[in-house]
Amino acid sequence: MSQFDVTVIGSGPGGYVAAIRCAQLGLKTALVERYATLGGTCLNVGCIPSKAMLDSSEHYHNAAHTFKTHGIELDNLKINLPQLVARKNDVVKQNVDGIAYLMKKNKITVFTGHGSLVDKTTVVVNKADGSSEQFTSKNIILATGSKPSAIPGVEIDKKRIITSTEALNLPEVPKHMVVIGGGVIGMELGSVYARLGAKVSVVEFTDSLIPTMDATMGKELQKVLAKLGFEFYFGHKVTGVVTKGKQTIVTFEDLKTGEQKELKADYTLVSVGRRPYTDKLGLENVGIVLDERGRIPVNEKLETAVSGIYAIGDVVKGAMLAHKAEEEGVFVAELIAGQHPHINYLLIPNVVYTWPEVAGVGYTEKELKDKGIPFKAGSFPFKASGRARASMDTDGLVKVLAHQQTDEILGVHMIGPRVADMIAEAVVAMEFRASAEDIARMSHAHPTYTEAFKEACLAATANRALHM
Ligand SMILES: Cc1cc2nc3c(=O)[nH]c(=O)nc-3n(C[C@H](O)[C@H](O)[C@H](O)COP(=O)(O)OP(=O)(O)OC[C@H]3O[C@@H](n4cnc5c(N)ncnc54)[C@H](O)[C@@H]3O)c2cc1C
Repeated sequence: MSQFDVTVIGSGPGGYVAAIRCAQLGLKTALVERYATLGGTCLNVGCIPSKAMLDSSEHYHNAAHTFKTHGIELDNLKINLPQLVARKNDVVKQNVDGIAYLMKKNKITVFTGHGSLVDKTTVVVNKADGSSEQFTSKNIILATGSKPSAIPGVEIDKKRIITSTEALNLPEVPKHMVVIGGGVIGMELGSVYARLGAKVSVVEFTDSLIPTMDATMGKELQKVLAKLGFEFYFGHKVTGVVTKGKQTIVTFEDLKTGEQKELKADYTLVSVGRRPYTDKLGLENVGIVLDERGRIPVNEKLETAVSGIYAIGDVVKGAMLAHKAEEEGVFVAELIAGQHPHINYLLIPNVVYTWPEVAGVGYTEKELKDKGIPFKAGSFPFKASGRARASMDTDGLVKVLAHQQTDEILGVHMIGPRVADMIAEAVVAMEFRASAEDIARMSHAHPTYTEAFKEACLAATANRALHM
């Protein structure tokens, strides 16, 4: 029977990164994945394909709506959805093939099949052909990720009533799509189809979009998506979804008035979050008990109740984000190798890849108020940015929250062009505990969108923004 130092179950961004770091540290490493391709949700049906479709649909939208103003005129513009999906599939293939290459390069043994714990040092892999393979491992990292959540009583038929996975492969552009849930995934995939011409109606339980981010961001995002033709039903609870022929019928209730409402649409996307995935993982064989939300409980070292068995990524507590999973993968690998790693969870940025994009890091305004931390806020609108005017991307703003007395940056929240990339500067600033004035005194190339961050820092420092 083979013996490994570390076995990682699950090859998403948490698992494959953990495996690479273990191998780099000289540990004999195995990776188990139940699907034929590596990369998990992120590469196969998550981050990468959704961004590929967001990019394509944005090009189409710009060609249809903004090119003319730039002096570019096109006749007979049309969307070729099969080609759009084929390019997306090609992008996915390049990425998953890249992971397979990295496994070989790092001499990681890959097992294809469903991994399960036999005991605290033995893993069995059940393969598609009915055979199985068993081996031992001194350490095990559970990185089994998550699956889309469902709404009780709503049956997802995967044809008309769909999750994000099916939304990445629709055979046609919907005429009307209902999106249940105003979170990140719903807004991104809703944007894809709205840009391609679908009417998009969002039914959301709470009273704002992207409720985990700073409240200003949700309000601004709502404005820009409304311009794209989105309609919103906030404070509404979905009570049922059924399919009739080529139509879905969504019934929902106004939480304030109790009024019953109904929407008919050719597709309904259920995007109400994701749930940890631990099916047939054999946790009962080692005595690991899930928490009330189905997650694997871990301590501050990401170790489960069983010594030598760790868990990372979407299957444990914390933000369900690829880069959070990656950080945890590196953390556990280094811990197993005897190092003393550290993760600053406050500084894991959150991004929404709509257009304009939304990004945030650190505390929100509400969190600072709840904690009683005195702060000052400075913001700068993109409509005052020369770079944004040049590209006609003037929606949005950058908001900086700094400590009232020390001026240390405590939170940065942005909605605007390319802020998914811009947020990295805020992460660096906060990791090095910069003050708003530190950033305000650093030269930012002109004209760039990043000047908006500098200006917001100037505004937070002493209301000293230069260009407003
Ligand atoms: C549409 C969409 C868009 C997203 N966009 C972003 C984004 O832009 N940025 C971002 O940060 N995050 C994004 N996410 C979230 C991101 O995909 C997840 O946070 C991330 O993939 C979690 O990584 P993970 O390694 O924990 O798990 P996963 O990526 O879910 O990987 C888990 C892997 O484990 C395998 N597995 C499970 N059980 C077993 C078993 N018993 N044996 C063998 N293999 C098993 C699964 O098949 C899977 O491959 C998006 C998600 C979706 C759905």
